[in-house]
Amino acid sequence: MRTLATVLDAGLGWLYDTVQPDDAHQQHHGISIGLPEYNRLYGFCPDGAEHLPVVVVNVAEPKLRPYQLPANPLTPRELDDLAAELERRGFPVRTTWNGFPAITGSVGLASPAHPTLVAAVQRYHRGCTVHPKRHVFCDCEHWRAEGARIIRPRHPTPEGHPRE
Ligand SMILES: [Zn+2]
Repeated sequence: MRTLATVLDAGLGWLYDTVQPDDAHQQHHGISIGLPEYNRLYGFCPDGAEHLPVVVVNVAEPKLRPYQLPANPLTPRELDDLAAELERRGFPVRTTWNGFPAITGSVGLASPAHPTLVAAVQRYHRGCTVHPKRHVFCDCEHWRAEGARIIRPRHPTPEGHPRE
């Protein structure tokens, strides 16, 4: 069964413990893993503020209302609880952004992502080497194959396939 614990296992394992091929690139926003039972979508960004990883919690399907705050924001303690859980798992927290009464919150981590993932993000920013003028906006076979070689989290499965 998917829980916040299994989502964090997968996302943090991807950020910190996964060796990426030296011919793969990764877009800097990273991956998202859904927790549909709780209407949440978690993001694992390898290269956020200060080029350090950021873990994001989003309301997956926010109930927006004109001229009012969203009807189903994060809970008041949710972002602090997430930060505390990350600390408990041995990932020092640098800072947090947003949270209740918003529909999104972010936790900035203090330790850089796995060096091979950092290198893959740098390869993304470098852009397509076959078509340098197209930068990251290329859609050629070479550029797409480079992106496809990134190793993604193996779990949790099956319904919430990690996506970009
Ligand atoms: Zn290209």
